[in-house]
Formats: sequence, C-alpha cells, structure tokens
Amino acid sequence: MPLPTPAEAEALIRRHAQMLPVESRPLAALVGGVLAQSVRAERDQPPFDRVTMDGIAVASEAWRSGQRRFRIAGTQAAGARPQGCPPDGCLEVMTGAVLPPGSDCVIPVERITVADGWAEVDAEFPAEPFLNVHTRGLDCREGDMLLARGTRLGPPELAVLASAGLPRANVRAEPRILIVATGDELVEPGEPIEAWQVRHSNSYALRGALALRGYHRVAEEHLPDDPGVLRERLAQHLATYDALVLSGGVSMGRFDHVPSTLRDLGVKEVLHRVAQRPGKPLWFGVGPLGQPVFGLPGNPVSALVCLVRYVVPGLQAITGLAPRPAEPVALGAPFRAKPALWYFLPVQLDSSPNLGTVALPKPTRGSGDFISLLGTDGFVELPPGPADFAAGYVAPFYRW
Ligand code: AMP
Ligand code: MG
Repeated sequence: MPLPTPAEAEALIRRHAQMLPVESRPLAALVGGVLAQSVRAERDQPPFDRVTMDGIAVASEAWRSGQRRFRIAGTQAAGARPQGCPPDGCLEVMTGAVLPPGSDCVIPVERITVADGWAEVDAEFPAEPFLNVHTRGLDCREGDMLLARGTRLGPPELAVLASAGLPRANVRAEPRILIVATGDELVEPGEPIEAWQVRHSNSYALRGALALRGYHRVAEEHLPDDPGVLRERLAQHLATYDALVLSGGVSMGRFDHVPSTLRDLGVKEVLHRVAQRPGKPLWFGVGPLGQPVFGLPGNPVSALVCLVRYVVPGLQAITGLAPRPAEPVALGAPFRAKPALWYFLPVQLDSSPNLGTVALPKPTRGSGDFISLLGTDGFVELPPGPADFAAGYVAPFYRW
C-alpha cells in the first residue's frame, strides 16, 4: 500500500476526531473559543433610524420649500426616548440618537450657526432625505443568522454576540494537551550538559506554536527511551488528557518504543508514516477516551512541521472549528528540486511588485537543522514530481 499523502493523512486525522464537550462561558472569557451554537440577530440593526452626526434634524420637505433658518425645539440625545420634530423647526441631535419623528435629514453642526435659539444653515448645504441617517435594519434584520456553529470567536464575533444580547455563549471546551518529549539524550536548558547530549528544544517550539493558536492548557513531560517508564506514565496520561503530542521514538531504531507502547496501551493506530519529507515517520492513533494521540518524529524541523500540518487540524477538529483551506502563496524564487515525496519547504514571506505576497525558499540542511528556520514564516507543501518549481508556482502555505 502506498503511504498516504499529507492531504490524505490530514483527512484521516479529521475523520477520527471526537468532539470535546460543550461549555457555557461569559462573554469576557470567549475570545479564541469555537462556537457550539448558532446566533441570530436579536433586533434589526440599527434598531431605529439612527443619527450618524452631531447637528440638527429637520424635515427635508421644509428645506425643499426654501427654508434655511430653523427654530431649535429641543435636544435629542443618544439613549433618550424619541421626541417629535415640528414641521418647520428642528431638534439638536447627537450621534447615536433616534432620528426625531417628523424629521428625515441631519445637518452637521459644522454647517450651521446657532443664535438666540435659531439654527441658520449654510445655503450650499446639499440637504436630502436620510442624509446622515443610518436607517433601521440597514445592517441586518431581526432573526437574521449572524454566527454559525464552528466559528472561531475573534473581536468582530464578540461584538456581534454582545449586540445579539447574549451575556454567555456555548463553545467547545479548550483541549487539555500534553506534550511528551522522549529521548535519553535530551537535557533541559539550564542543566549541565555533556558533549554527547542534546538540548531538549522541541517542547518549547511546539508549545509556542500551540499558544499562538490560542491553546494554553498545555502540560509537558520528558520521558526516557525506556518501555517500562513510557508505559507507566503514558497509561496515566491517556486517562487524563484530551490530546497527546509525543515527540521522538517513532522511527525504526531499537529504542523507538513509542508506537508499540501506545498500541499496548490500547491506542488504536490509524496512521504510521506519510509520503512526505521531513516528518515521514509520523504516527497517529486514537486513545482510549477517543482522544487524538500524535507521535511526531523527534527531529526538530519534522516535529514542528508535523505539529502545524497535522496536530493543529486535529485540535481544530475536536473543537468543532470549521476547516479552512491553507492560503495559497506563489514562490518568489525558483526552487530546484525534484522531490521523491511530498516536500515541506520552509519559506520567508516577502512582497513582490507584480505577484503580491510571495514565499522565498529557505531549505534547511536536513530535518535536524532548525537553525535554518530562523527568519522563516512557515512552509509550503510541494508535490513529488519530475519538475523543478519555477518562481510563481503556487502552493499552500502553513504558518509556524
Ligand atoms: P528520534 O525521532 O527520537 O529518532 O529523534 C531524532 C533526532 O531528533 C535525534 O537526533 C534526537 O536527538 C532529536 N530530538 C529528539 N527529540 C528532541 C527534542 N525534544 N529536542 C531536540 N531534539 C530532539
Ligand atoms: Mg529518540
């Protein structure tokens, strides 16, 4: 059987997603959440004919008949109950006020002179019905569908929720994620290190990529390449976390115990190896609680690429976020390679006068070379094939 392509691997991961429970949260704690309900407009928006400038409201009929001086009959402030406007008079009005019944046109304060309770209007003013008025229902109608399930709540969505009169909304629970770094060679930053040992860096990069996407309930653990310890610790974690992200130990080496340990613990294997470079050894399975379990290859470039390309879509799926295709970006320079597998090419975004945003190829010296990722914004996904990739070649772009 040929190995799955990246798109097929992503589809498999999404297909095995089991959604997290729904919880109700107050408005102030909703940012970044994924809506688990739909939201309709509480009222027309604007809910009344709304004055959009400070000034005076008049009847355009009086204006058309030649009137340019209006007696000020009162003031209509924002939030005040509507007052009537006499046919040949005016009311002072404030931005956000109800358009006074009897008037239909607002003349801004800059175009009038007020003296002794009268407003004299600049003769050049182009008065007409509904000038400087935002009419009732212009933006939306009561009952209109405004937000669908699966929407990520950012600033505009929060404003819409509040305007729909909802003090709380239902969202999917934020996943509790565990990152497990495996490897006897790994030493924490700050600890003394021997020449043959390696700094543990993956968890920091992975956690950073998760935090940038709004996932903050993240715990970490470092485990040795010891099947007994792996087994004991992972058994506990599989009973606790909504998603597990392991790095290292998924290849063909004698100390790569992660897949067999996970299988022994009842994690159902869905995927092992993808037709891609870097990150070919990727492992994915479904844990005893139905949670996604990812075994990322330990090489730092592979681990980060696989997190962005597979773990993030998996987390989005369990939180019910509607999938969105990756944004296409054109290469800003040719990339001379004929990859045998799908190829994740790190790129730096730049802007070109004729192509707009372009991706400049920044290949690494291998999947261990994370230093070369410095200055890059993410990677593009290139298909295997016989051809080089010319400048202008369009590929899906994934941000770190
Ligand atoms: P593995 O996938 O366990 O065979 O590891 C592949 C390579 O990645 C080895 O050179 C490891 O030392 C390195 N590596 C594994 N885990 C990490 C980590 N957490 N941080 C930095 N490098 C790692
Ligand atoms: Mg290892």
